[in-house]
Formats: sequence, C-alpha cells, structure tokens
Amino acid sequence: MTETTTSSGGRPSLPMQGVPQPSRDEGLNLPRVHISSHPVMAHKMTALRDKNTQPPEFYRHVKEIGALLAYEATAMLALETVPIETPMGPMIGERLAGGIGVTPILRAGLGLAEGFREVIPDAQIWHLGLRRDEQTLEAMEYYNQLPHRVDLQVCYAVDPMLATGGSAIDAINVLKRRAIPRLCYVGIIAAPYGLLKLSQPHPDIDIYIAALDESLNDVGYILPGLGDAGDRQFGTF
Ligand code: URA
Repeated sequence: MTETTTSSGGRPSLPMQGVPQPSRDEGLNLPRVHISSHPVMAHKMTALRDKNTQPPEFYRHVKEIGALLAYEATAMLALETVPIETPMGPMIGERLAGGIGVTPILRAGLGLAEGFREVIPDAQIWHLGLRRDEQTLEAMEYYNQLPHRVDLQVCYAVDPMLATGGSAIDAINVLKRRAIPRLCYVGIIAAPYGLLKLSQPHPDIDIYIAALDESLNDVGYILPGLGDAGDRQFGTF
C-alpha cells in the first residue's frame, strides 16, 4: 500500500509525507508507556506480523495478545476485601473494587476486546465507532453503546495500531466526558509519532502496548508493523 486518495478529486494524499517524526527513544522515554517484555508475547507478535498468517489465525493471535495485554494492564487495579466461606470455613477474600470497561474502537479493536473478555468475562463492553470529519478533523461518533451503569474503576480503550494517534485521542476525549476515575489505552503496535501525539493532550493515561515500532510511512502506516489490522482480522482485502 503506497497511497490513498482524497474525497474531492481522487488526487493522491500522503498525509505523513515530510512530517517530522520522533525517534523510538523519545517514545521509550514517556513515563506512562508500558511495553510488554513477555517472551510469549514476542513469539505471538512474530506470527501476527508475518504476511503469510491468514485472517482466522491472525484474529486468534489478536485475541490471545489481547488476553496477555489484559493481564499486564490490569496489574494495577484496586481490590476490596470480602468475607466468604470456603468449604473449610470463613476467610477474607479479595475482589476487584468497581467495574471494568473495555471500549473497542471499531472495527479493528474487536479482536482485542475479545481477548480482554477471556480474562475479565464481566467487563462492560462499550463499542465506539469514530469517523473524522475531513474538513474540521473533529471526531464524529457514528456508533456509541455506553453501558447503562457507569460505575467503573477503569476503562480501557482498545485499538491495535497506534499510528497517527487521531482516533486514540478522540476516543479518550469521548471517555473523559464520563465520570470514570481511570482511563487507559491498549494497543498492539505503536509508532513513536502516535505515542507522543496521544501523550500530549492526555498525559494522565497509561498506555499499554506489545511493541514500539520505528516510524510511519507516508500514508500513516506503521513500519515494520503488520499491515492493516482490520483487513487482516476480517479478511477484507
Ligand atoms: N492502521 C492499521 O491497521 N495499520 C497501520 O499500520 C496503521 C493504522
């Protein structure tokens, strides 16, 4: 993939051409960025990136990587005590203090959200569809299913590729209008450009990723990346 076209005249549009990009080290220096160092993650990432991996297998890997990221991103959650009875007698157990929300950004975030549900089956899922107005660059929600009960301790916006950062910023803006004490962003691969873009307006959120890649190409795809995460999950080439 080398170029896209504008809606107006079909002229080639290369939105990242000539745009200065930060180095990988600048991304690594951001304080709230967490990059997985788990060997199982590295193993699955290689299969995911491989261009010969076909959509059903690709989707399965996205789901499994989502589950691994869910473990890592939930390590800081708050617990509360609860008295229970085991078959042997009473004890004080612990449970998560407050609900957990997962917001897949449509459509590529769906596989990651499935992985989160494997780990946290009672997570509330809030599907969010965002489209950018080409004139104003404002985010337009075309689909928004906020759960009725919003008593969450944390909500995770999930989207596999943090490239230019536009939809990630928009999604966090939408979530910040709700009274959710803690917001996180979870992706599979980030470019340094997207990481810095997201961190500038939202320095208060934690960002969990499986890998930090080198750069964006002229049309905003991550290098070396994995191609189009939505197309590869759903076979829409
Ligand atoms: N979205 C994708 O699916 N892939 C990229 O590399 C960038 C954005």
